[in-house]
Amino acid sequence: MERILGKIEGQQPGPLIICLAGVHGNEQLGLHAFQNVYSAIVKHNISFRGKLVGIAGNLKAILSGRRFIDYDLNRCWTEEFVEEVLKKGKHTGAEDEELRSLYKVINQEDTGDFDLRVMVDLHGTSSEKGNFIVVPEELGNHPIVQALKLPVIVDLHKYLEGTLLSYYSNRGHVAFAFEGGLIGPTEAYRLHTSGLWEILETAGCVTKHDHHQEDHYSSHLAAMGANLPSRVKVLHRHQVRPEDGFRMYPGFHNFQPVHKDQELAIDVRGVIKAPTDGLIFMPLYQPEGDDGFFIVEEV
Ligand SMILES: [Zn+2]
Repeated sequence: MERILGKIEGQQPGPLIICLAGVHGNEQLGLHAFQNVYSAIVKHNISFRGKLVGIAGNLKAILSGRRFIDYDLNRCWTEEFVEEVLKKGKHTGAEDEELRSLYKVINQEDTGDFDLRVMVDLHGTSSEKGNFIVVPEELGNHPIVQALKLPVIVDLHKYLEGTLLSYYSNRGHVAFAFEGGLIGPTEAYRLHTSGLWEILETAGCVTKHDHHQEDHYSSHLAAMGANLPSRVKVLHRHQVRPEDGFRMYPGFHNFQPVHKDQELAIDVRGVIKAPTDGLIFMPLYQPEGDDGFFIVEEV
C-alpha cells in the first residue's frame, strides 16, 4: 500500500481536505471509504473545487492488521515528541518511521493557498454505537462538524495526549476524528463513505448535483435510529496498563447510561465500578488500548 491513497487537484481553487485512514492499523474501513469516494470522483469526472488527498496512517500496522506495532500513532503528536522523532536518525522503530513519513507527506500536501484546511481522521471503535466526532471545543460548531450530525465530544483530546487532531488543529486545520462505528461490520464503511461526501459538499468541493451517490448520509443516520446526545463532555477516564489484565464486562455500548457504583469491568485488582452517574463511552473490547472506558455527560 502506498502512503498517498489518492489525490485530486481541482481546476478551481478552494479548500484542502486531508483524509487520514488507518492511523490505527486494525481500523481499515476508512481506507475503503476514501477509495470509494476518490474513485467515484475520478470515474465520473466530477467537478472538484480545491484539493483532496487521502493518506494512509500507519502502513506497517495496516499490513499486520494491528492497532500499532511499538506505540499508538494517535497518542504521540505532542510538540516535544514530534520534534524528538524528527531529529532521530533512520531505523529507530516502526512508529518513529511512520510519524516522520506522515509529517513529511502532510507538510508537502499542505503547501498552497486554500480558503479552508480540513483534516478528517477516520477511525472505528470496538464497541457498539461508536459513531461520533472528536474535535476541540472551539471547532465543535464548525459547519463541517455540524453537518455530520453525530455526537460531538468536545474535550476528549484533553484526556488523550498527543492526538493527531490536536496537533493539526493547533496548526490551523479544522481537524477532527470521525468514528464510523464497529470495526467489523460494513456499517462503518458506508457511514464513512457517505460522511465523506457530506464533508466535501459542505466544504464546497462538490455539489449535490454533481455526484449521485445511491445512499445518502442522512438516510444512513436515520436508518441507525440514532437517539444520541448531540454534545458531550468527559467526566471520567479509566486508564489501563498492559499489566492490569483489564476486561470490560460484555454488553456495554457507547452513550449507554450507567449509574454510580455500577460494575463495569474487572482487572487484577478486582471489580471496577462507575465512580459517577453518566453515559459510558468507548468501552474497550479489543486487546490493545490505554483507555478502558470513559464516562461522559451531555452538555
Ligand atoms: Zn482509532
